[in-house]
Amino acid sequence: MCCALSLVTAGEAATIYPIHRATILAGSLFDLKVEFDGVVQPEKVRVTINGAEYSQALGKTATFVEKEKGVDKSALILRDVSISTPGVYIVTASDGVTTNTISWEVYGTPGPRQARNVILFVGDGFSVAHRTAARILSKGISEGKYNGMLAMDEMPHMALVGTSGVDSVITDSANSMSAYTTGHKSSVNALGVYADRTPDTLDDPKVETITSLVKRKLRMAVGVVTNTEVEDATPAGMVAHTRRRSDYDVIVEQFYQSGVDVLMGGGSASFLPKSVPGSRRKDDQDFIAKFRQAGYSLATTDKEMREAAADPATQKLLGLFHPGNLDTVLDRKFLKKGTVEQFPNQPDLVDEVKAALSVLSRNPNGFVLMVESGLIDKQAHNLDWERAVMDTIMLDNAVAAAKAWAAPRNDTLILVTADHSHGLAIVGTVDDAAKGELMRDKIGVYADAGYPNYPQANAEGYPENLEVSRRLAVFFNNFPDYYETFRPKLDGPFVPAVQSPEKVYVANEKYKSAPGAMLRTGILPRDASQGVHTGEDVILTATGPGSERVMGFMNNTDVFRVMVEALAAGN
Ligand SMILES: [Zn+2]
Repeated sequence: MCCALSLVTAGEAATIYPIHRATILAGSLFDLKVEFDGVVQPEKVRVTINGAEYSQALGKTATFVEKEKGVDKSALILRDVSISTPGVYIVTASDGVTTNTISWEVYGTPGPRQARNVILFVGDGFSVAHRTAARILSKGISEGKYNGMLAMDEMPHMALVGTSGVDSVITDSANSMSAYTTGHKSSVNALGVYADRTPDTLDDPKVETITSLVKRKLRMAVGVVTNTEVEDATPAGMVAHTRRRSDYDVIVEQFYQSGVDVLMGGGSASFLPKSVPGSRRKDDQDFIAKFRQAGYSLATTDKEMREAAADPATQKLLGLFHPGNLDTVLDRKFLKKGTVEQFPNQPDLVDEVKAALSVLSRNPNGFVLMVESGLIDKQAHNLDWERAVMDTIMLDNAVAAAKAWAAPRNDTLILVTADHSHGLAIVGTVDDAAKGELMRDKIGVYADAGYPNYPQANAEGYPENLEVSRRLAVFFNNFPDYYETFRPKLDGPFVPAVQSPEKVYVANEKYKSAPGAMLRTGILPRDASQGVHTGEDVILTATGPGSERVMGFMNNTDVFRVMVEALAAGN
């Protein structure tokens, strides 16, 4: 590269979206944007695709913006275009002085449609350690062999998935979910868009979601089921286009416009008009009323959900069971902590999945269902591994329910994966009977670890007691200052750190007096209130028609490709 020359011309080459090495489904919609590094003259601008004027290749003319708001540089933007012929596309953008050349791969889905339905399970922040601990707690282990397998283990195809985004090796749930639902990489906090340089969060170049695609091309039904707020990043990734995942008001509106057929989880606070107590909307739109007017049945409790799903007339279902996130399975089914007293009628994820399958299977053209076990991540952030692992068992129960539903049909592709990892590992066991004054002396490693003595799991796969005398020793590798208690938090979800008057996060004194509690000095910046996501690969397991494409190492964007190929959605 001729650096001296480009320094003299004082210009960086233009930025092109979709970016270099983008893989694009033939026929899927995207926005083309070219950002020039300065104010340029429109007559000097030349953008070509495989040598031809872009307008010829894409069939439309772009808008030239002389000075973008907040940037004062020129850009070219062209919304809702598509390319129907697979192949390599060389895209060049020139302002008369500098030129940038990138390439896209456009792929088709040439085979016949293999799957009528697709079910994508996402354990948010679901790491390998969560999976192993769930297997130990749920199935038991002796002689070095598990006494049973998880439902997600018993799937014929498996891959490692790379989760990094456009801007960072570490991803968040927004851009990682976007990769699954659009086939395009994106940036932290961005959903269904490439993050451009302007401050407006809603003007970024969009890419089509699987929801839009399968509704537009195949008239399929779409379901989104979670135990977090439905407007949170993972469920939002099924429909949303925004640079900022916290645009909750907008995301709710985008769900409404998407025509999604089943939408269940928490987050009603963003559906209610601001005049209603408990609302967090900034406007007076009543989205519960709007969804009802659009023909959705409304469920706010487990019972209402079951009744609505059982009614053969129900084609569209909105289930909002909490103003915020639902509670973890440990709190809901066992401890009655968290907000369970206030919201005692929350459904279990397994029952949400069963209800969603009943409603969605009424669509003659098949469905795409996304199911998130979202509190694995939130509890991993809290360094509360027991809650996270119990919610991993719940995820597996939901997978088992879907597998049982799909077994006699052989027309449903089921995928189980995570959006990113968390930094926890199984180190050994904590043995209360071991000698030593300090709890750290009671950590058994290697041969001293032996096996934990959790009781055999109940019929739902949950051990009914977690505070046994020899329990798993699981530690996080990144954390703020906090007190390690070496015990499950039976009095409610763990809050490891709290903000000090100096606005930095310090260890929560609440746990200081727990027997044997030990201060761990944080390794994260002092504005971190909790643990953070980590960049290791995650596991994808799959079964059903089309699952044979799951193998080896895959980018998260390839998971989208597996789904659309099974559905032949690019034809
Ligand atoms: Zn997270």
